[in-house]
Amino acid sequence: MQNDLEAVASGTEFQSEVCIAGAGVAGLILAQRLSAAGIAVHVLEAGGESPEPRSQELYQGEMRGRMHTGTTGGRFRTFGGSSTQWAGQLLPYPEENFQKREAVGGICWPISGKDIADYYPAILNIMGADDLPYTEQFLEKVGARSFSTEEIRLRFSKWSPFSRRNLGNTLGKECLASKHATVFLHANVTSINLHPDGNRVESLSVKNYQGGEFVFKASTFVICCGTIETSRLLLASNRVQKAGVGNAHDQVGRFFHDHVTACVGHFQREDRTAFDRYFAPYYLQNTLHTVRMEASSQLQESANMLGVMGGFYIYEPEDSGFAILRQTLKNFQRGKFSFDAFSDPRKIPSTLYEAGKSAFELKIRRRRFPAANAQIDLRIDSEQRPRPDSRILLSDQMDVLGMPKVVVDWKISADEASTLHRYALLLHSFLNSLGLTAMKWAPGSLESPEFWMMSGHDVYHPMGGTRMGDTPEKSVVNANLQVHGIANLYLASCSTFPTGGSSNPTFTLMALSLRLADRLQHEQGR
Ligand SMILES: Cc1cc2nc3c(=O)[nH]c(=O)nc-3n(C[C@H](O)[C@H](O)[C@H](O)COP(=O)(O)OP(=O)(O)OC[C@H]3O[C@@H](n4cnc5c(N)ncnc54)[C@H](O)[C@@H]3O)c2cc1C
Repeated sequence: MQNDLEAVASGTEFQSEVCIAGAGVAGLILAQRLSAAGIAVHVLEAGGESPEPRSQELYQGEMRGRMHTGTTGGRFRTFGGSSTQWAGQLLPYPEENFQKREAVGGICWPISGKDIADYYPAILNIMGADDLPYTEQFLEKVGARSFSTEEIRLRFSKWSPFSRRNLGNTLGKECLASKHATVFLHANVTSINLHPDGNRVESLSVKNYQGGEFVFKASTFVICCGTIETSRLLLASNRVQKAGVGNAHDQVGRFFHDHVTACVGHFQREDRTAFDRYFAPYYLQNTLHTVRMEASSQLQESANMLGVMGGFYIYEPEDSGFAILRQTLKNFQRGKFSFDAFSDPRKIPSTLYEAGKSAFELKIRRRRFPAANAQIDLRIDSEQRPRPDSRILLSDQMDVLGMPKVVVDWKISADEASTLHRYALLLHSFLNSLGLTAMKWAPGSLESPEFWMMSGHDVYHPMGGTRMGDTPEKSVVNANLQVHGIANLYLASCSTFPTGGSSNPTFTLMALSLRLADRLQHEQGR
């Protein structure tokens, strides 16, 4: 069911079994699972059915320290959350990411990869992706030879089809159709209200955009508002615990991290034969697979390197039929039903030709060969060594709902720059050995870490701020995502990730959300 809080009388109180704040990736996974098990769920979504400036405006943040572009440009405050815009690239973390590693300061996760691996098939099912291996065994399946080395292991990302990327259109619709779930739109959670003894949440305070105020009560609360908003909400909820909910040990907002990335070079046409042979993406069972070159665990350990991965990104010329077709599919993901591909009659022949050619290559050759004049960039992403002074804080300025605005003090350090520089040198020799010798490397990228320190930027993967761990002195949630000391409050967000690994984070977030859904089902006796 759907309920627009703009149309509800201010002062109304609501009651459910589980109350979920945020209808993005984590929130919709939980809401769909719990409502399908017959649990009465309320989902509070700050935005509307489609993007609205008044909602997006509330994601504006103040920068202190290094510019973190994802704070304002990489979060989407609408039904479906950031899945309305994301690229749908899925890759689980390798096992070593969960383990104790010196390169990240000896930090480890309180769970292992095995604790969430059972949920991977369900995620692939949600995202409409196939179950081919992520490892170099993928090449065996397609009859190709591996070209990994001891230092560089090959991994294969899956890209979910456009039609399945926006979870608002898939799981969201299931929630709207369920008699056990009610999705409240224009429902901004502004405070988590604790019982005076501080060990239970009693309710959430919620506001609409007209000044209406509401109270949501439940036996269990899950905050799924995305990394930055989760810390902001905890810090701003300071009526009972003066430093903010779960912040008795000054941990909330700290250890904020992302992936640090830079584009290091692009291909010349002469390299295209070797590129096509090794790196042209594969297309099987409705899923695009791209080759990623990741530092092996032996290399990370022996060279004290952070998790780091290189990959190629293909940009077709903007006015090509292929690019127009892709944009049309992306519009569908965002809920804009426009047929851009056919809006300019002069481009219809090229669009149809390229669509036909791609369809042929995908179907018969199972590869996506870029156009001859496509731009192909090499990008390297590194995880960060988590540091306490890289953090999310509150500003003295208030937003229109009366909540303190967010301040993001993002830091990167010499560890990331050194890892990226050393890995760029390794990739340089590796690609040369494969015959990709004419690649144009960005000036300075192979010379020193300085290039990486200057040009490294975030990649819309905000993580940390409420990290997972065994003790309240060093973390905010436990291995079950429950806030330490608060029996009925859970956080499902990349904010709980102690380290970032080299893979994109959302696949792991989805697995953690499914695991939490199982736990809550058990708690509710279903
Ligand atoms: C362009 C882009 C490309 C990306 N590509 C990839 C990729 O290929 N692979 C990958 O792994 N990751 C990718 N990501 C990152 C991915 O989108 C996020 O990791 C993921 O969406 C996080 O899910 P979430 O549920 O924590 O947050 P979100 O999906 O952002 O959902 C948060 C929800 O909470 C709501 N909300 C926020 N505050 C409040 C409040 N106070 N009250 C009520 N509701 C609230 C929001 O409106 C939103 O619906 C990409 C991101 C972007 C922007």
